[in-house]
Amino acid sequence: MTSNVDKEELEMFRESVIKALEAEVRPHYEAWEKSGIVPRELWNTLGNAGMLCVDVPEDCGGCGAPFQYSVVVGEELARLGFGALSTNVMVHSDIVAPYLSHIGNEEQKQQWLPKMVSGEAVGAIAMTEPGAGSDLQAIRTSAVKDGDDYILNGSKTFITNGQHADMVIVAAKTDPSAGARGISLFLVDTSLPGYSKGRNLDKIGQHSGDTSELFFSDMRIPASALLGEEGQGFMYLMRELPRERLVIGALGVAAARGALDLTVAYAQERELFGQKLAQLQNTRFEIARMETDYRVNRAFVDQCIDQYDRGELDAPTASMAKYSATEMQCRVADGCLQLFGGYGYTTEYPISRAFIDARVQRIYGGTSEVMKEIIARSVLGKA
Ligand SMILES: Cc1cc2nc3c(=O)[nH]c(=O)nc-3n(C[C@H](O)[C@H](O)[C@H](O)COP(=O)(O)OP(=O)(O)OC[C@H]3O[C@@H](n4cnc5c(N)ncnc54)[C@H](O)[C@@H]3O)c2cc1C
Repeated sequence: MTSNVDKEELEMFRESVIKALEAEVRPHYEAWEKSGIVPRELWNTLGNAGMLCVDVPEDCGGCGAPFQYSVVVGEELARLGFGALSTNVMVHSDIVAPYLSHIGNEEQKQQWLPKMVSGEAVGAIAMTEPGAGSDLQAIRTSAVKDGDDYILNGSKTFITNGQHADMVIVAAKTDPSAGARGISLFLVDTSLPGYSKGRNLDKIGQHSGDTSELFFSDMRIPASALLGEEGQGFMYLMRELPRERLVIGALGVAAARGALDLTVAYAQERELFGQKLAQLQNTRFEIARMETDYRVNRAFVDQCIDQYDRGELDAPTASMAKYSATEMQCRVADGCLQLFGGYGYTTEYPISRAFIDARVQRIYGGTSEVMKEIIARSVLGKA
């Protein structure tokens, strides 16, 4: 990361993040993975340590740091092997908070952002429904105007932070006949009647990740909860998704770094056929292949981070960052696990978690196939 950000200061911040995560997260992470969720108080701990929404402006309770600082928090969570938590924090800090900062009015910002910075409020965003994932325009959750309120009905699934969320940005149809122009976004206060959460979904990886079903049943929300303008929701989503995709890519490269570091250390320790695993030509070629794969993606993601910071990152380039970095992450996690042999397949070795936590990165935030479609459209035009 370069440009207008002082690299030395950024690295000092990174060191302080690592120190805090080693103290506050490392000792408990195994237990959280087993129980399938992090404790609610962890959000307050992370907030107190200055690790949430770090680029939120000072007048909204943040420290107004450059975007790069926010990325560092997610990257270190991912690199240190806390994949589920990196997803939870990314959604809160790098997806939900920017919607408020960029689109929210002053009252909405003051209502939620200071609490999100401190961890007093947890944020989530609910687009996906059982019948609408990649095809976002097919959502059926409805928000019908009733006097000064809207009445919300419908359900969402796969919602990160769904169990702990105090505020959920909900995408709903305000005009079902208007297609994409009929979608609006609402800042839904989860303490209001009519809101309920379903199961914390049982996933194959990212076990302590909070991923839930949500239900809205004749939920009355005030018109002041409308984010931006009615009917502009789809346009806002398209505008904000590049940041989400870029940050997922950044988590991918950081997680790959973590997996490589574990593997290099193991290869230098493990002995077989009277020599170190690291001396076998296959190991050397595999490490060379994966290190190169990592470096190429690191450089591209860093370039995109700087572009985003300058307001110059376009949607196809952000899609390239997500697509390339997450596919690389999965290639690297697989190659690394292979070098651990049977031990890599046991939960005792952290490389197994790096492998299993990586898989969803190619799915959420827009699948690799959707990324390719966006990229192809930018090159070839619509089919
Ligand atoms: C752990 C986790 C956390 C998540 N967190 C959130 C969250 O916080 N908020 C939220 O709203 N959602 C969240 N999601 C949902 C996620 O974004 C969706 O799962 C994803 O967008 C894919 O939608 P889908 O699952 O309905 O798959 P589908 O859309 O049904 O896709 C099925 C298959 O079709 C392919 N496909 C789709 N479109 C095309 C196309 N045009 N061309 C070719 N192939 C295509 C897909 O790539 C996929 O292989 C999360 C999901 C998971 C697993």
